[in-house]
Amino acid sequence: MVQDANQRPVIFLSEGAKRTRGKDAQTINILVAKAVAEAVKTTLGPKGMDKMIVNELGDVTISNDGATILDEMDVEHPVGKMLVEVAKTQDEEVGDGTTTAVVLAGSLLENAEKLLADGIHPSIIVKGYRLAAKKACEIAEATADTISIDDKNTLKSIASTSMTGKCGTESVEGLATMIVNAVMQVAEKRDNKYVIDKEMIKVEKKEGGNLSESELINGIVVDKEIVHSDMPKYIENAKIALIDSALEIKETETDAEISISDPEQLQAFIEKEEGMLKDMVESIKKVGANCVFCQKGIDDLAQHFLAKAGIVAVRRITKSDMEKLAKATGAKIVTRIKDISKEDLGYAKVVEEKKFGGESMVFVRDCKNPKSVTILIRGGTEHVAAEAERAVNDAIGTVSAAVKSGKIVSGGGSIEMELSMQLRNYATTIGGREQLAIEAFADALEVIPKALAETAGMDPIDTLVELRAKHREKSGKYFGIDVYKAKIVEMNKLKVIEPLAVKTQAITSASEVAEMILRIDDIIAGSSKSKSKGPSESPEGSGEFD
Ligand code: ADP
Ligand code: MG
Repeated sequence: MVQDANQRPVIFLSEGAKRTRGKDAQTINILVAKAVAEAVKTTLGPKGMDKMIVNELGDVTISNDGATILDEMDVEHPVGKMLVEVAKTQDEEVGDGTTTAVVLAGSLLENAEKLLADGIHPSIIVKGYRLAAKKACEIAEATADTISIDDKNTLKSIASTSMTGKCGTESVEGLATMIVNAVMQVAEKRDNKYVIDKEMIKVEKKEGGNLSESELINGIVVDKEIVHSDMPKYIENAKIALIDSALEIKETETDAEISISDPEQLQAFIEKEEGMLKDMVESIKKVGANCVFCQKGIDDLAQHFLAKAGIVAVRRITKSDMEKLAKATGAKIVTRIKDISKEDLGYAKVVEEKKFGGESMVFVRDCKNPKSVTILIRGGTEHVAAEAERAVNDAIGTVSAAVKSGKIVSGGGSIEMELSMQLRNYATTIGGREQLAIEAFADALEVIPKALAETAGMDPIDTLVELRAKHREKSGKYFGIDVYKAKIVEMNKLKVIEPLAVKTQAITSASEVAEMILRIDDIIAGSSKSKSKGPSESPEGSGEFD
């Protein structure tokens, strides 16, 4: 408590605010971080368990995906939220490795706690961790193998590695092939590097059927139906017009009154409107379009004219789908229908409407070299389809990351073990108290193989000892945990492969969040004034926090 010269307490916080300082603040923060990490740790790897999260509305999510679980868990404590952020960043940057990042952060803090107890100042730990994280990324980079975009088999292994355990084994192979083809299809080479816009791979899910019926469409699937029953449900050699304005007569912006005094005038008015709609349809027909995707509405009468002209139309397409359709078919999006020209049209070999359990979807298939494609996921139930969708999105992320950087590492805890070992060597070159922090970092990395060993039912301590020994051998860097056989094997031979970026991103963000948490020595929590709670400063070590 701060006091003035006359020993009177100085009050500078609002009434009811709570303050926790020094070691207590650190202890609480580390405790929370460890609890959050612990919550997702058992989901790690293909033999990891799933979590079922029920929200207050009773909606159920069953998932094995770190980011999803943390997001749904609705973590309240600010330190917990920081870890949720780590998972989110990981998900956005590389699409996979969310659990790894969070578990690693928890482990880093757990080891920091021991150093703190030994009287090492947090700033030394922070410095050591920063050095270690940087070095770990360098070592990972040097340890990584290179691949080329043509190496389809390796890319498939990367996709499979991020999907195994999340959707049925039988369907992994098929989905992996689709994902690799999809990524290769949308990848564009610029300055000798591949650029991949993951947005251009649309993942659409429809319940019913089963996972093995999922398919890759060289084009776009839109969750809409063809507007008019007289329009064909299947056309070949589709010439596609994309229109982002309404095929309707616009209502005037200002309130206008039209006074009509005799029936002839009314007739003329109606005919005029009809004529305008007819002209719109005529413009579309004239350029040779036989298929229209409209971002806005289509008037009933316009639908009728379109149907009569044998043109298929779909309305109220989302803006993002319009962009994907443009990328897939090569069409240009037109705003003024009058100005539409032949060059604006796109092409697809087939446009068709298909029904799935009473609901229709429109498929735009077999486009010529489409720069946007769709993976349609089928799944017996909503939960199966949703978890498969997440797994597919993860795999799109990892395959893209691998193609972009061309660097891969082996999984199953092998890379973490290798980094751990090499970091320990590095620590000795640093010396001083930082050396202890770097060694703590190295130990923390072992949490990944350890957690995987636990999911496989292996003895974690014995396994780590054995694994360390393997990594000390020359060319022992690939040794990791085969969770299915509960054995230590070379993960590259098992084709458990991950992109380098997933690991470096996880290490960087886990370390950053750990450093940030370690630097906090004061938690000041304001509380609402309605609470008539006691003194302005809570007694030290109350350990409370709202
Ligand atoms: P994350 O959210 O971190 O991606 P996952 O649950 O997907 O978590 O698990 C990823 C971990 O599982 C990685 O360390 C990866 O190398 C490992 N892994 C994936 N497939 C296998 C396998 N067949 N055998 C052993 N480990 C595997
Ligand atoms: Mg994963």
